[in-house]
Amino acid sequence: MFKLQQTATASIDRDALLHNYQVIQEIAPQSRVLAVLKANAYGHGLVRIAKALPHADAFGVARIDEALELRQGGVVKPIVLLEGFFASEHLPIIAANNLQTIVHNRQQLEALQQAQLQEPIQVWLKVDTGMHRLGIEPQEFAEIYQALQQCPNVQKNIRLMSHLACADDLNNQQTLQQQRLFEQLTGHINCEKTLANSAAICAWPECHYQWVRPGLMLYGIDPRISEQAHQIDLQPVMTLHSSLIAIRHVKAGESIGYGAAWQVEKDTCIGVVAIGYGDGYPRHAANGTPVLVNGREVPLVGRVSMDMITVDLGCNAEDQIGDYVELWGKNLNVNRVAHHATTIAYELLCNISRRVKIDVL
Ligand SMILES: *Cc1c(COP(=O)(O)O)cnc(C)c1O
Repeated sequence: MFKLQQTATASIDRDALLHNYQVIQEIAPQSRVLAVLKANAYGHGLVRIAKALPHADAFGVARIDEALELRQGGVVKPIVLLEGFFASEHLPIIAANNLQTIVHNRQQLEALQQAQLQEPIQVWLKVDTGMHRLGIEPQEFAEIYQALQQCPNVQKNIRLMSHLACADDLNNQQTLQQQRLFEQLTGHINCEKTLANSAAICAWPECHYQWVRPGLMLYGIDPRISEQAHQIDLQPVMTLHSSLIAIRHVKAGESIGYGAAWQVEKDTCIGVVAIGYGDGYPRHAANGTPVLVNGREVPLVGRVSMDMITVDLGCNAEDQIGDYVELWGKNLNVNRVAHHATTIAYELLCNISRRVKIDVL
């Protein structure tokens, strides 16, 4: 019988997304939620995820094009540009589409001061408290905050934010140092503030403030690196799966795939799975990366190709062509796969390519 061989597919579980959203609200009950949807909602589909989050208070994206795609998709909730705007020409677009923007440098302030806008814009002022990526300097804060308050193109209820560099590490004191500096700068100001990404939502309640900004944990992945972290009941939203398209018997001493990079030690069955780096499976996944075939964990062997990977099914394997293979998701934590590929779950999720079929549950 010629069983249907399904190729690379990402199943998106909307109930898991809603569950994770609820977990976030339970952990940070006083905070509103700015759900982060940048990079195609971490590979899960930008508009799809926005529409599957009816309770979110606002959405965060990195690029104006992502915000406009949400608006074109019929999303009417507040949308925040997390890196601000990159040209003065963006300001009328921001105003016309009712977008909100971060301001993280003086150039953006000046562009706001010089613009002629129909409506003032909601601004979030970002201060650098130690990550040294985006944000105005602490010593500029008072002056720039005041200038924004006086700017007619800026709505009066300016919000304040910063970003944490080490929140995933429970033993790193930098998080508290950043939080203390944020307090020193903004403690006397009574307005809405935000500091926490997923890791800080999980691990640093003193950073929750009025808004939290979850990305990764919305998608069901625990961002913390510490072993002793208490369990949080997150459910993976994406399960990446495919199927076996060939099963080969190979003898000890033979080798598999490009570069003959893996040598067979004893006679075995090799399974060929229809997924590769052309689908977003990481090319650097090493020999031994876990793969689930019919629910059984087997090791990846040989190099990852564009359209295929090979796995060692063992000499007595009874798997059949067409059988189900999970690469990560419900039954295989993407963090484990990322570890074997010397990367992080974030990169694996947002690298899912256009060729991967999407199956919304
Ligand atoms: C991406 C991003 C987040 C979300 O980070 P996670 O670690 O995925 O929760 C929060 N805030 C800002 C400013 C971001 O750029």
